[in-house]
Amino acid sequence: MSMVADQPGPIVWLTACIHGDEVGGTVTIHELFKRLRKRLLRGSVYSFPLANPFGFENISRNISVSREDLNRAFPGNPAGSLAERLAYQIFNHIEKSSPDLIIDLHNDWRKSVPYAVLDTPAKLSVSEYEHLNFCAHSSRLPVVLETDTIKGTLSYSMLQSGISALTLELGESYVVNEKNVQLGTDAIWHILAAMDMVEDTEPTTEADYLIATKGKDLRYSQRPLSSKSGIIRFLKKPGSFVIKNEPIARIYNSFGRLQETLLALDDGFVLGHTDASLSFPGFPVMAFGLLP
Ligand SMILES: [Zn+2]
Repeated sequence: MSMVADQPGPIVWLTACIHGDEVGGTVTIHELFKRLRKRLLRGSVYSFPLANPFGFENISRNISVSREDLNRAFPGNPAGSLAERLAYQIFNHIEKSSPDLIIDLHNDWRKSVPYAVLDTPAKLSVSEYEHLNFCAHSSRLPVVLETDTIKGTLSYSMLQSGISALTLELGESYVVNEKNVQLGTDAIWHILAAMDMVEDTEPTTEADYLIATKGKDLRYSQRPLSSKSGIIRFLKKPGSFVIKNEPIARIYNSFGRLQETLLALDDGFVLGHTDASLSFPGFPVMAFGLLP
């Protein structure tokens, strides 16, 4: 899908469903293009709305036939595995358009709130990274700095090539959540407005956690990890605040005996919790955006 304005301007790419079960981003792109009709003032918006059809058809995060994670295969290899060849096609097609920004849309755990993720700046100059950070905050979603380097993602690989890229995690996978589609469409619209490509609009909804995290660079964390096997009972909901040492979850054995109480390691807010109430030693239980 593409939309080109009469006036020249920035080139923005949107990608979605690189993980085949993350369908919310695809619908967000559909909605954005509907809204862009006759309203794109300058520049171009291009998209790959469904980048992993193999995974999509099988309701699978990975490429179903090879079981590879497409978002660990970038920048790809024309003579490599299936995932690497597909990644190569996507990466090169985007890169040769000399884009100003890539927004890669993902969906997270079933119980999660939308947020923006910024990888390490890699090959960007200080001013380019500041502009990317400005774009991320313009989304009006909480902005989380990735603390680990995850190689092979589209955004990381683009940043390695000196191209600005950010990831939006738009709530749960598997099903289309209309509220999150609205939030995601608004978020991209605000970014395009910050780049003077469209006229800005006021946000339609603004939850408490969006107001409280405005302008702050949060740090991503999945700690504490569980250290016991058992059944998890969550004490905090996505979008809620936690303070250091506050209980966030309890793990019980099959007879109902408490095995472990997990405590927040820092002040922050809950981005999401695991899809299943099943715990093993070393398993993540919740993800947090920690306050600076
Ligand atoms: Zn994903």
